Amino acid sequence: MTVRPIVAIDRVSVAYGDLVVVHEVSLDIAAGETVGLVGESGSGKTSLGKAITMLKDTIDGTIAFEGEDVRALVASDRLAFRRRVQMIFQDPVSSLSPRLKIRSLLAEPIEVHGLPFEATWRQIEALMADVGLSAQHLDKYPHELSGGQARRVALLRSLVLAPRFIVCDEPTAGLDVSVQGDLLNLLCDLQITRGLTYLIISHNLNVIRRVTDTVAVMYLGQIVEVGETATLFARPAHPYTASLIAAIPTIDPDRRRSPIVLAGEIPSPRKPPTGCRFHPRCPSAQARCRTEAPARRDAGPGRSVACHFPVA
Ligand code: SF4
Repeated sequence: MTVRPIVAIDRVSVAYGDLVVVHEVSLDIAAGETVGLVGESGSGKTSLGKAITMLKDTIDGTIAFEGEDVRALVASDRLAFRRRVQMIFQDPVSSLSPRLKIRSLLAEPIEVHGLPFEATWRQIEALMADVGLSAQHLDKYPHELSGGQARRVALLRSLVLAPRFIVCDEPTAGLDVSVQGDLLNLLCDLQITRGLTYLIISHNLNVIRRVTDTVAVMYLGQIVEVGETATLFARPAHPYTASLIAAIPTIDPDRRRSPIVLAGEIPSPRKPPTGCRFHPRCPSAQARCRTEAPARRDAGPGRSVACHFPVA
């Protein structure tokens, strides 16, 4: 039996003016799954996250949430969509209004979405302990919180609306390792108790390896590999995925790999290379790669790769 994904992204492109930063990306996310989206800065990860949550318009392709094309939603349905689909931003302090205390910031979504105030506020108070906040945080301003506390407030603001799907953009960036661990445990616990589905965008491959079921690798606006997390980390097929994994710092001698040195920086999406977009930096590139763009093809159960000469 084919299970319909909760999010189905089909050949989606996103642009800022004439600069196309996401190019014909397709990805399915199953209900209850945690998908990791990885890649260097400038690969289009956050733009794709914003497109899925309707914070950025697409210029092509379709995004379906629970089977409905999100671009076809009328205004009243869009508000309901925003309750079910949330995005938590990379820098939670700057995404929260600096002039409002946490109490007001938590009340804001209740008012915007017209939810019953008393009942919803009681839910917030009950949830505060679950996310590691206490009543004393309510009278603070965002800049008075630590990075970990600000992320918990952003998470609580999302949970107020009982979402089904949350995009977490760099959820652990800037946090020390023990706070990172607490936050990841919290995300995992909430997934179980509230039936959440996550897309986690991160540079930190140790975080991605720890909490995701599936990984999608982006390079210069395209998804170049998708695979089940353990398999992809053990046997990356795309040379770019292999280079990212080889660069993960580790103290475990059994996991050490020789670093794969990539030439140069990620090119500008304004003038992407011909053929395979990765070819100027790829240690496996051959003549064909310079002229022929590889399509993403199935490479086993739950696995697909866009490369003429995969390394696994
Ligand atoms: Fe490298 Fe060629 Fe594969 Fe592109 S298609 S990743 S250049 S081997």
